[in-house]
Amino acid sequence: MKLFSSFSNRTNVPEIQRVRHELVRRNLEVCAVERLTPHMIRVTLGGAELAGFTSPSPDDHIKIFVPGLNGATVRRDYTPRHYDPQSGTLVLDFVNHHGGPAAAWARAAQPGDRLDIGGPRGSQIISGQIDHWLLIGDETALPAICRRVEELPADTSVTTLITVPGPEDEQLFRTDARHTAHWVHRPMEEADQAQHILSVLDKLVLPDRTFVWIGAEARVAKAVRLYLQEERSVSSHWIKASGYWVKGQADASVKDVRLE
Ligand SMILES: Cc1cc2nc3c(=O)[nH]c(=O)nc-3n(C[C@H](O)[C@H](O)[C@H](O)COP(=O)(O)OP(=O)(O)OC[C@H]3O[C@@H](n4cnc5c(N)ncnc54)[C@H](O)[C@@H]3O)c2cc1C
Repeated sequence: MKLFSSFSNRTNVPEIQRVRHELVRRNLEVCAVERLTPHMIRVTLGGAELAGFTSPSPDDHIKIFVPGLNGATVRRDYTPRHYDPQSGTLVLDFVNHHGGPAAAWARAAQPGDRLDIGGPRGSQIISGQIDHWLLIGDETALPAICRRVEELPADTSVTTLITVPGPEDEQLFRTDARHTAHWVHRPMEEADQAQHILSVLDKLVLPDRTFVWIGAEARVAKAVRLYLQEERSVSSHWIKASGYWVKGQADASVKDVRLE
């Protein structure tokens, strides 16, 4: 694990440490497939090549390699939802949307199938004196958000604000943190519209030293960052925003959403 830079070396603001990992490609076996919710497919992977896998940050991502529409292999980003070195298993949660080859692969996956993965190549570890976490996202960010809530130390204060299509898409959080969940229901076709999140966010109190993490469709992530900085005077040092996908574009993301 190689530390190669930090987001900020100021005191009193959170730091994001960027850590590099040796890039390893692994061929894994599908051990189990579960329809977790109507719009989420959970795939559990295993195999000897998982040895040495590491994922220190909840918002890490790996590349998965799947057949594209014309048969050529394509790569997509997915969050290591849970890695258990004891059982040698890695869990990935796939949004069941009807657009692309990765979602199609998950829909068709069966025990015994194989999947190539690469990475994580790096991790961004957020640290500092954070008194409250606000985690905002859509269904693609649910794996990263659920993981962070689960991994936060006991009694840490955390609020989640998550958009999903309906109540049956909500997930349970197992955590020792002090967690408040806000679920917003909207059709998947409206996943690029920020007002669903903004209308709830507008009513939330943001205590001092709140770190806001955002993962959503790129326009939504940007609109939420803009609102927080312009309307709520949240400093950019206290926000990490990522566009996990871009509506209308295949294999697209904006890993660090900033205002121009
Ligand atoms: C750091 C990071 C971590 C991520 N982790 C996860 C994860 O754990 N689970 C997960 O499901 N996704 C995750 N994503 C998002 C995922 O990489 C994208 O949704 C990806 O585009 C899916 O690939 P695909 O082949 O299914 O669709 P693509 O071929 O990439 O896209 C085809 C079409 O589908 C649209 N599309 C893509 N995603 C969605 C969606 N969610 N809803 C509706 N339309 C969509 C595109 O705009 C495009 O028009 C992550 C992204 C990033 C950047």
